[in-house]
Amino acid sequence: MATDVKASGNTGAAEAGRDFIRDIVKADLDAGRVKEVVTRFPPEPNGYLHIGHAKSICLNFGIAQEFGGRCHLRFDDTNPVKEEQEYIDAIKRDVAWLGFDWGEHLYHASDYFERLYGWAEDLIRAGKAYVDDQTPTEMRENRGTLTEPGKNSPFRDRSVEENLDLFRRMRAGEFENGARVLRAKIDMASGNINLRDPVMYRILHAHHPRTGTTWKIYPSYDYAHGQSDAIEGITHSVCTLEFEDHRPLYDWFIANLDVPSTPHQYEFARLNLTYSVLSKRVLTRLVQDKHVSGWDDPRMPTLAGLRRRGVPAEALREFVKRIGVAKANSVVDANMFEFAVREVLNKTAQRRMAVLRPLKVVIENYPEGQSEELDAVNHPDDPAAGSRKIAFGRELYIEQDDFMENPPKKFFRLSPGMEVRLRYAYFVTCKEVVKNAAGEVVELRCTYDPATKGGNAPDGRKVKATIHWVSAKHAVPAEVRIYNPLFANPAPRGGDDFAADLNPESLEVLSDARLEPSLAATAVETPVQFERQGYFCLDRDSAPGKPVFNRTIGLRDSFAKDVAKG
Ligand code: ATP
Ligand code: MG
Repeated sequence: MATDVKASGNTGAAEAGRDFIRDIVKADLDAGRVKEVVTRFPPEPNGYLHIGHAKSICLNFGIAQEFGGRCHLRFDDTNPVKEEQEYIDAIKRDVAWLGFDWGEHLYHASDYFERLYGWAEDLIRAGKAYVDDQTPTEMRENRGTLTEPGKNSPFRDRSVEENLDLFRRMRAGEFENGARVLRAKIDMASGNINLRDPVMYRILHAHHPRTGTTWKIYPSYDYAHGQSDAIEGITHSVCTLEFEDHRPLYDWFIANLDVPSTPHQYEFARLNLTYSVLSKRVLTRLVQDKHVSGWDDPRMPTLAGLRRRGVPAEALREFVKRIGVAKANSVVDANMFEFAVREVLNKTAQRRMAVLRPLKVVIENYPEGQSEELDAVNHPDDPAAGSRKIAFGRELYIEQDDFMENPPKKFFRLSPGMEVRLRYAYFVTCKEVVKNAAGEVVELRCTYDPATKGGNAPDGRKVKATIHWVSAKHAVPAEVRIYNPLFANPAPRGGDDFAADLNPESLEVLSDARLEPSLAATAVETPVQFERQGYFCLDRDSAPGKPVFNRTIGLRDSFAKDVAKG
C-alpha cells in the first residue's frame, strides 16, 4: 500500500484547495446534474477520531462550504458490540472543535433500521436475497479466493416464503447469534469478492446505544451504507480507497432497491503519517493495554489528544489543505504536520520564560532582599500584544544546559568567566561554580553589570548568547510533560506487532520546572511559547498551585529527516 514519503509540498496532483473530487463536484453543478451538493462524514462510533479523519472531515465539510451545499454528520452505528455513547459524544465534540457545523443534519444509520429492513424483504421477495444457515467457517471456506470462484451455499435456492419466514424469525429473536445470516444473491463466481453473496444481516443479541434491545438483527456496513446515503440525498459519497472494490456492490443495492435517490461514490487516498498508526483497532489497543493514559493522551494522533497537547484546529485544517487529495496512497512526513503547527503557533502564541531543568544562579553584586520589574515583549512580531513586567532579583534560575564548566570551542552560553545576556535584563558573568558532595554543579555565583539594563552595554561590548531565566523568588514550580514520537519506527507495524515499535521514551516528565508567574494564569489549551524551548499549553491535570504544562511541539523538527522509504 503506502509508497513514497512526501517530504514537502502537495501530495495531490492539483494545487492546494483544488483536487479531482472538487473538480467532479464543480462539473456536476455546472452541468446541472446536481442542484445542490450534499456530502457526509460517516464515522463508526467505535473509537475516537484521528488526524486521518480530519482529512475526510475537512474534505466533506469543506466541499459543502465552498460549493454552497451541506454536509451531514452520520453515525454508522450498525455494530452495537463495539459502539458506545462515549464515542458518539467525542466525535461530535471533535468535529465541532475542528471548526465544522452539521447544523440540523445529524443522522444515524440506526434511524433507518426499519426502512433497511423493509428493503431487505423486498430483495427476498424479488429472489435476490436468501437466509443462509452455513456456519461462519463454511461460509468462509466456500467464498473462494482471489483466483478461485466461490461455491454456492446449499441454502441458496430456498423459496421466497421460507426466506421471508426465517428472516422474520431472525428479527423476532428466535435464533442464537451466528445461527443464520441474510445474504444478497448476486454471484459466487464474481471476480470481485464483495459481490459473492455478501452478508446483509447478522443476528446479534446486543444492546444498541440508540435502539436498545429492539433489534436482534443488524445490517452490515456494506448493506446500510449506500442506502443511508440514498435516504439522505447524498450527491457525492466521498470515502477512502479501500472502498473502491465495494462500489459495485453499493451500486447493485441501489439499482435493485426502490431508493429515493442515487448517490455516487468517489474514493481518495487515506492519510498515512510517518511515526504514526492511524488504525482505530491499534489506537483502541493502545488505550486498552494502557500504553497511553487514554484516548486524549497528548501522544495519540487522535483529535482529542492533539487538542489536549495544544495543537490548534487551524493548524490541522491548514495541514490537510497542503497535503491535498489524491488517488494514490502515500505516506506524509510527520515534519510537514509539525511545520503547519509551528506556523500557526508562531503567529498566535505569546512568549513567556520558563526554565525546564533549573540551575540556581546567585548575582553576588545584586542587593539582598531587593527586586525590580523589567519589561518583556509578549510577541516580537505583534506590537499590539504589548508587554508585561517580569521580576528580577538576586537569585535566579537558568537552564542547566545553558551552562558548561568545560565548554567546547563553539559553546557561547554560560561558563566560568563568560559573559552572557539574560533576556530582557542584564549582562551577567560567571565567577564561581558551586558543587555538591557528588561533584554536581548546584549553583553558579555570578555578577551583573547594572549599566546593561534592558540588554545592551553602553560601552558597546557584545555578548554571543542570550539565555532565558526566571526569578527564584517569584517563579512558580510546575510539572512539564515533554512528548516525543509515540513510535520509534518511522513506519510502525500495524496489526498486533505495533507494541514492538513503541518509543519507550515517548513521555518525559520534568517535575521541577520553574515558570514566570503569569503562566500560572493561562487557560487550558491556550498555547504559549516558552522562549527558546517550544510551544506549550496548560494541561487539565493541573491543580491549584501545581500547574502542569504539555509541550505541544519544540522549535525544531522532532522527526528524523532520513526516514525509511515505504
Ligand atoms: P474502521 O472502519 O476500521 O473502524 P475507519 O478509520 O475507517 O476505521 P470510520 O469511522 O469508518 O473509521 O471512518 C469514517 C470516515 O473517515 C470514513 O469515510 C473513512 O474513509 C475516513 N477515514 C478513516 N481513516 C482515514 C484516513 N487515514 N485518512 C482519510 N480518511 C479516513
Ligand atoms: Mg471505516
